[in-house]
Amino acid sequence: MRPSLAIATLALISLYPAIGPGPAILTSRPEAAHEAALAPPAEPQAAAPWSEPCITDLPSVAPADAPGINPAPTAVILPDAPPKEAEVPQERILVVARGDTLASLLDGAGVDSADAHAAIERLARQFRPSQLRPGTEIAIRLSPGETPDLLDIEIEPEPGRTVRVARQPDGSWADSLTIAPRSRFLVRAEGSVDGGLFPAMTRSGVPAGMALSLIRILGHQVDFQRDLQPGDRFEVLFDRFRDDEGDVLGHGQILKATLTLSGRTLEVWRYKNRAGDVEWYDAQGRSLRRSFMRTPLDGARVSSGFGPRSHPVLGFNRVHQGIDFAAPTGTPIYAAAEGVIISAKREGGYGLMVRIRHANGVETRYAHMSRFARNATAGRRVRQGAVIGAVGSTGLSTGPHLHYEVVAGGRQVNPARHVQEAVRLAGADLAAFRARQSRITRIAAGFGSGDEIALASD
Ligand SMILES: [Zn+2]
Repeated sequence: MRPSLAIATLALISLYPAIGPGPAILTSRPEAAHEAALAPPAEPQAAAPWSEPCITDLPSVAPADAPGINPAPTAVILPDAPPKEAEVPQERILVVARGDTLASLLDGAGVDSADAHAAIERLARQFRPSQLRPGTEIAIRLSPGETPDLLDIEIEPEPGRTVRVARQPDGSWADSLTIAPRSRFLVRAEGSVDGGLFPAMTRSGVPAGMALSLIRILGHQVDFQRDLQPGDRFEVLFDRFRDDEGDVLGHGQILKATLTLSGRTLEVWRYKNRAGDVEWYDAQGRSLRRSFMRTPLDGARVSSGFGPRSHPVLGFNRVHQGIDFAAPTGTPIYAAAEGVIISAKREGGYGLMVRIRHANGVETRYAHMSRFARNATAGRRVRQGAVIGAVGSTGLSTGPHLHYEVVAGGRQVNPARHVQEAVRLAGADLAAFRARQSRITRIAAGFGSGDEIALASD
């Protein structure tokens, strides 16, 4: 385990704090920002319960006025002889390899299986053992003696976050979570979309996972194939966390993202409403989630739009009742909006097709799939963006693609035009949303790409 864990404090910092009253500093030098972040007095440092002074930290010369010490002027008082090996708990570091489970690792270390089971069960209150990643270090302590008892387990599943279970005197187990003190920074990343939105965002410092989810969110509003032009720009504001040595502990949430397209500016804002639901909104406070996704899969290109087209084989015009998206076989297909699956079955020329019923009697259809997702079964409720199957070429199809239809009022409509009415924030929620917008805008005004601003960790 990293030495810094031994001095980790118990100061808990809210994971998703609201934006603080204002910037602590404006700078483009992360190290300076970091110093500034440390400037306010830290929370009282509570020693971690398991930290014990090391033998070498003990004074080798006793103070003259120490009680009970013979005050012979030249006496050098040595600390007690270190306890014999067998009397101190044995500490072991277990490194997770692919295929290991916590139980198998403890078993391999000679821990009694009933003990291991009880400890793991308690640990699971703080951390799901199934999420153990290869390379993670697990520190365990065993009691001295021939048949050692497990005393405690300590894991740092992600930087700055330490979970621990310890055996209590009565034999029960206690769990704890320690979050290293961290400073929160607002980061601004911006750039031109040339060469693709995803690579452009990651190049500018947006973490890959964040970039992917942002593209999915923006997919509610933008047809990337048609709308993005060379020279269009993006801006992303997001949280970054650093420990007190300045190392990045991780990233929080996107607060706001802006796409400046040739003809318009598109903003998306993350906001937790008063009911506690986190949603994405446009600049006017309209929820994006109520809209249908324009593209129910990632990285696809429109190979055939809605409307009249010349049939490639028969040569006459007919109306194409949906939109075709060309994508490799196996590409995940998402539910375009929240709804209930009507069916997932083979339907003639459509091949393997999923139908989903949404609010107001709207139905979406996803055809030519190679397979259905395991949970895509009739009657099942799905959230927007849930994977329902994979691209294929079943039925009457000349190559892997998704044929996507929207049925409203009993007939197929152009999915690109179909936008369900959005829910707009109102009342106190709208006021809080507006206040947050102006606070973030004020904080972010005038700081450059790649800059960080320290925020209060309130
Ligand atoms: Zn089609």
